[in-house]
Amino acid sequence: MTRRRFLKKAAVGTGMLVAASLPYGLARLMTPREALAQPAWRRLRPPGALKDEAAFNAACIGCGLCG
Ligand code: SF4
Repeated sequence: MTRRRFLKKAAVGTGMLVAASLPYGLARLMTPREALAQPAWRRLRPPGALKDEAAFNAACIGCGLCG
């Protein structure tokens, strides 16, 4: 493998990683600070959400589709 080809593949891989993490990062950035500061009992959960806070947090992938 040539150095040029290696660098090209590394750049493509890095770009794919950034593109894949973009929705998660944007969802976190777009969440109002007030919403994050709310106590757990005041948070709005999607229908069918797990009742247990720890289980919900473990299952949530932060896709942002619920809000
Ligand atoms: S952010 Fe996505 S995974 Fe998390 S609760 Fe909302 S819809 Fe479900």
